[in-house]
Parts: sequence; C-alpha cells; structure tokens
Amino acid sequence: MADILPIYVGDELELRKAHPCGANHWLVMRSGADFKIECAGCGHQVWLPRAQLERRLKRFIARGPRGAKEEGES
Ligand SMILES: [Zn+2]
Repeated sequence: MADILPIYVGDELELRKAHPCGANHWLVMRSGADFKIECAGCGHQVWLPRAQLERRLKRFIARGPRGAKEEGES
C-alpha cells in the first residue's frame, strides 16, 4: 500500500495542466475515494477520482496540517 499517495484536506496542489482561468494552484476541500478540489484562481470546484488526481498531480505547493504531520513522522 506504500504506493498510495497521501493527499489530505488542506493540501495545496499544482497539477500537470493549468485550469482554463490560468491558475495552477488547487486546494483540497474533501478527500476520500473521490477528491473535491478548488481552483485558487477562480474558486471553481471539481470532483476527481483518486486515481485521476494522482495522475494529474505535479507537486505539492504546500501541505495541510495532516500531510505535514505525516511527512514529519517518517
Ligand atoms: Zn480556475
């Protein structure tokens, strides 16, 4: 299960493809089997299945409280 990427509410993501509004900065609003992410540029919200979000994720811009905790524990 080590290849499951930990993505949590509060994380800020850069995706491989920018949103049509020009921003490439997304906030994780809900996590689970599907994720709800919000564009930091225009506030547009989309639901993405985990597999799709992992494929589109380029990097973490910032980790939320939970992600930061897990990274510190390794
Ligand atoms: Zn946008």
